[in-house]
Amino acid sequence: MPYSKWGAKTCCLCEDGHFARTGVCIGCDAGMCRTYFHVTCAQREGLLSEAHSEEVDQADPFYAHCKMHTDKMHLRRRRRNWLSLQLRIKQRQLEYQQVGYSDTPEQLRMRRKLAKYRTKYLNHKTLRNPPWVPTQKMPRLLTTSASAVRKLMLKAELMGIDTQSLEIQEADVAALVDIHKKWHIQPAFSVEFIGYYLDRNNRLSSMKRGLEELLDANSQLQDEQQALRQKYDQYKAGWDPDAIGFRHVWDSPAKGYPHIPRSSFSLEDTPTSMPFRPCQVP
Ligand SMILES: [Zn+2]
Ligand SMILES: [Zn+2]
Repeated sequence: MPYSKWGAKTCCLCEDGHFARTGVCIGCDAGMCRTYFHVTCAQREGLLSEAHSEEVDQADPFYAHCKMHTDKMHLRRRRRNWLSLQLRIKQRQLEYQQVGYSDTPEQLRMRRKLAKYRTKYLNHKTLRNPPWVPTQKMPRLLTTSASAVRKLMLKAELMGIDTQSLEIQEADVAALVDIHKKWHIQPAFSVEFIGYYLDRNNRLSSMKRGLEELLDANSQLQDEQQALRQKYDQYKAGWDPDAIGFRHVWDSPAKGYPHIPRSSFSLEDTPTSMPFRPCQVP
């Protein structure tokens, strides 16, 4: 199995979040479903199933489906099975711990058989080809190993580090990261709301400043428009409807287009030889 699979997906069923990224997770077998979980967590929740008898010859006869893709009845039944199995294991452990339990004839027979099978297995192992092991060391994250996580937690405990308060602190910092983008946070005595409240004050003052600037710009533009409108009305009043003729325009530029200064036209530029053709209106 490629090492990149370790810790690649987060288990959504883990009871302790510290272990959600340890080991290898499998995905829900329903098409397109993007739910991942540990096999043991799935077993605890009753999400594992075997293939039906007619499909047994396929390579992987076991299925895992997430809670959404499992029948509720099956889920409850399998969960009950798992709980009863756990109870039975506990019961057996208690029985084994009782004095004289391992000396009963049944236990002696079982242990004799076990020893026989053990020697058989060891003989078989010596005859078999040794399994392939990676020849070079491959890196993988320390936090993908559940035992390493357990040891690190124990170390923190022994060093007197309060991991819980550190976690709360980290969550607070994470909540404050994009506080300036959030609106409508429910009022509460939480770090998030207080951060939002303080940031909102800053936001309001900067918005007020922006509003003042925009109002200034608006009045300035309105003044400008007023002046332009006056100028426009002035020119419109001086407009001569007789000057619409083409030759008139060319002959006396200042009459038809009073906004063009007279000085920009010189007599040499005026195309007097241009034939006048009135527009044809159908
Ligand atoms: Zn898990
Ligand atoms: Zn699913």
